[in-house]
Amino acid sequence: MTGRLLRLFLAVLAGLTGPLASWAASGDPAISVSCRTPRKGDPVVVLVTAGGAVDNLVLRWKGSDWPMREIAPGRYEGLIGVDLEDPEGPVPLSAAGFHGNVRFLAETELVVSPREFPVQELTLPEGMAEFDNATLQRIEAEAMELSRRFSRVTPPRRRPPFLPPVEKYLPANFGSRRVINGDPRMPHAAVDIRLPQGTPVHAIADGQVAYAGEQFFGGKSVVIDHGGGVFSVYYHLKEYSVPEGREIARGDRIGSVGATGRATGPHLHFGVRVPGGRVDPTLLLALPGR
Ligand SMILES: [Zn+2]
Repeated sequence: MTGRLLRLFLAVLAGLTGPLASWAASGDPAISVSCRTPRKGDPVVVLVTAGGAVDNLVLRWKGSDWPMREIAPGRYEGLIGVDLEDPEGPVPLSAAGFHGNVRFLAETELVVSPREFPVQELTLPEGMAEFDNATLQRIEAEAMELSRRFSRVTPPRRRPPFLPPVEKYLPANFGSRRVINGDPRMPHAAVDIRLPQGTPVHAIADGQVAYAGEQFFGGKSVVIDHGGGVFSVYYHLKEYSVPEGREIARGDRIGSVGATGRATGPHLHFGVRVPGGRVDPTLLLALPGR
């Protein structure tokens, strides 16, 4: 890395993490985060610095081990998040691996802070709000299949800034507590972007299509695996043009806006999932790339 690049890199880090004084200059690996008090639904960038190469490095967050990516010699990045339904309070975060032949554990703690989400009252026709047994079984099977796809963790990829999935990105409804016909329902774990039918939808980053199919709620749906446990989801598409398993590049057209599935009008339902849960897509799009 040239001196200029290094200064740029440190400037970006300083913007993300504040003073770097707590980092070990050399020797023991140290862990640092973009925010110590993330709110519900916030993504968090984690950096581990070590004097030299680290082997078998994993990030321990919410009871699971997640891979990290080397961004420069002895520097590693991980992207995690606080699920929008996580409770408030302290949560341990650590990085574990081998430094030389010595096992190490670098520990810190995040404190999940509150975020108020709007309550959204909806009135839907009876058939859209109540389901017969066959439909309930279909809904359950689809949810299980999707969670199986989300549980697959592939190697982290290089991370330029994420691209908005549509040109006119005007997000609404993240975390809305929905009350449908008077019944409280699951919070809305994505944003809705109202757009005309047929508006092109693009992949927010490089990845592989982890799911492409038709679901009861989501209608024509695409899920992209961006590596390291990071996924983006696109629902209610009019059509999609990418088969499961295809490698796609950041900005590729994957389909177009529609109103398939359980939608009251044409819009893109766009969600993201990172290690730790479902986060606000707009905050993910705002992260500087690396
Ligand atoms: Zn939605």
